[in-house]
Amino acid sequence: MARQVILTVPFHKLGRPLPSDKPGPRLAPTVAAAAFLAGLLAAPALVASAAEAERAQLVMGTLLRVRTSGDQPDATAAAIFAEVERWDKRLSTYKPDSEISRLNARAPEPLTLSPPALDALRSALNWSRRTGGAFDVTIGPLVKAWGFDATPRLPSEQEIEAAKALVGYAKVNLAASGEASLERAGMALDFGGIGKGWALDRALDAAREGGNVDEVVLDFGGQFLFWSRHQKVWPAAVRHPRAEGEAALTLEVKKNGSLSTSAASERFLVAADPKAPMSAPKKYGHILDPRTGRPAELVESVTVWAPTAEEADALSTALFVLGPVAGLRFAEVEGAAAFILYSDPARGLASAASSQWKKEFGETKDK
Ligand code: AMP
Ligand code: MG
Repeated sequence: MARQVILTVPFHKLGRPLPSDKPGPRLAPTVAAAAFLAGLLAAPALVASAAEAERAQLVMGTLLRVRTSGDQPDATAAAIFAEVERWDKRLSTYKPDSEISRLNARAPEPLTLSPPALDALRSALNWSRRTGGAFDVTIGPLVKAWGFDATPRLPSEQEIEAAKALVGYAKVNLAASGEASLERAGMALDFGGIGKGWALDRALDAAREGGNVDEVVLDFGGQFLFWSRHQKVWPAAVRHPRAEGEAALTLEVKKNGSLSTSAASERFLVAADPKAPMSAPKKYGHILDPRTGRPAELVESVTVWAPTAEEADALSTALFVLGPVAGLRFAEVEGAAAFILYSDPARGLASAASSQWKKEFGETKDK
């Protein structure tokens, strides 16, 4: 029977990420197996083959679900969790002793980063440049101003302006020695838009180095990675941004690679617009436009398919910020496979897919 993977959003709804510094409970295999794939909720414990395992663990504040097969699936799953945890320790802004938290706290003083943390930072800066700053790894001060690191709140105009002035990837300096510095006190790196994808790619590498692995499917709260030694077809779906538990689009993944969804519904704040206090309260999502200092509007979700999870993660965040028109244009220029769900004043929820998306998954219809 074909199994359908629903692209889920993290389980935290209203801005409060699950504390990533607390070790996540190891879910019982039955729960992990049952919870992993939609439609399998009534499934008995683990799947039939002894060489297949399904596990789930809370890491980076999100449930990471692993399905893998090969010679030693338990060891493969353990290697994946361990590698993602290593990245969490380096990149987390919720752990005060992570390398990135320490660099943020020291600004403008430099800190010598470990080679892996430096690699991640180089990559994040590269995506910041490549997307013209739509994705900007220095978004931290704005994330804080809007409270998306803790309790979401509406900042004042002055707070937005002050935070915006501290955002800018060009103000990060890297020396050949491995020293990194942020030019101004108050600047802060935030890997929320790329860290999960980056960690998934490395986790897959770590798993494959460890033994004879046949297949790995990772589901990390809006971020999927599919890998198989053999040609495979994985049924998948893009979550409907307005209808809980429903799919806006179903598709077949036929290649190894990653699907990443960025969605406003993942984490948001509902508050009255101070400029129109009498109108209905507005929803403010957690993906911020560095140009305005405010949540990006119009787009409801962006799903990107890419060969690596890092690329899918960075691009889904960037296209969300760029919006349906500029985002689609950027995807065309870059040859990126993107599916954008946005609100159209005349048509309600509308969709747009890039040429590369149509090549990978066929034509799509508006819902
Ligand atoms: P994602 O779900 O991958 O799109 O990541 C969203 C997260 O990335 C947010 O919760 C913030 O931590 C961070 N973020 C928000 N806006 C941006 C932006 N413009 N560039 C980079 N990261 C961002
Ligand atoms: Mg992202």
